[in-house]
Amino acid sequence: QAKSCGRNESRFFSSEMNQLAQERLRLENALREALQDNQLHLHYQPQIDLASGRLYGVEALARWTHPEFGVIPPVRFIPLAEECGLIGDLGRWVLREACRQLAAWRAAGLSVPAVSVNLSPTSFHNLDLPGMISDTLARNALDSADLTVELTESVLLDTHPSTMKTLTEVHARGVRLSMDDFGTGYSSLSYLRRLPVSELKLDRSFVADLEHDEAARALSGAILGIGKSLHLTVVAEGVETPTQNEMLREQGYPVAQGYLFSQPLPPDEFARWLGTAVEDGAPG
Ligand code: C2E
Ligand code: MG
Ligand code: MG
Ligand code: MG
Repeated sequence: QAKSCGRNESRFFSSEMNQLAQERLRLENALREALQDNQLHLHYQPQIDLASGRLYGVEALARWTHPEFGVIPPVRFIPLAEECGLIGDLGRWVLREACRQLAAWRAAGLSVPAVSVNLSPTSFHNLDLPGMISDTLARNALDSADLTVELTESVLLDTHPSTMKTLTEVHARGVRLSMDDFGTGYSSLSYLRRLPVSELKLDRSFVADLEHDEAARALSGAILGIGKSLHLTVVAEGVETPTQNEMLREQGYPVAQGYLFSQPLPPDEFARWLGTAVEDGAPG
């Protein structure tokens, strides 16, 4: 086994490793334990339909609080999971947990239209992914339209032969694919012709600069134009201020997500947020 994730490898190499590498191995082992011991959680961030002010969907975001190391952010543990071969397990867990939660909210009478989950490029290597998704939806009595799968442009740098087949099959089953962090990747726009995506997420770096940078404004408008002409939903990410929200609304953005509406929340807090938002008339 080439990849080191187990305790034996850690013991074997420790004499020659510097402290940083040892710490990393401890974290790898901790992540494996976390997946087994339910130390991972999902937080949910609302996505708002700007025309109606209603909830469009929620994005599930993974959270890890280690009993000793404390909160470890996804930008640290997701790459770690990829490198030590745990990303498949993590992706499956996220899918199951997000679907279970959506079904639970609905059973409790909350109206949550859909859930989005993030999957890493490696997850699309697995030809079993479409079947796994269908099984998970069925087990929770959900429809394929209840789920969106977010992928990043790095999926396209990845030349694994199964990726396109898996994406096509997931789409064929009626699950929406969403291109995350759109506009920041390295790929050319031509992939939008080949990939069966239904949604683009305008990267939050554009939104952050909207108010002060004319180029960011021009690009957010242009990206909306691309999305519209390809009949894709375009979601603006990282909306933090009322001014950003107003500018996006004026440009014609259909959906927005960001701290202005809510941070990603644990399920019970999200349910409270939704209750309050609905009482107030419209979220955001
Ligand atoms: P992402 O999918 O683009 O998720 C959006 C990130 O922006 C989240 O960070 C979210 O908390 C943050 N965010 C939301 N609204 C705002 C805002 O108004 N301002 C700012 N500054 N940030 C905002 P988070 O949760 O730390 O996740 C970071 C990245 O880690 C995600 O980016 C995604 O690529 C990855 N990730 C998170 N959960 C998962 C997961 O379950 N699986 C995989 N494969 N990746 C995940
Ligand atoms: Mg995302
Ligand atoms: Mg994003
Ligand atoms: Mg991202």
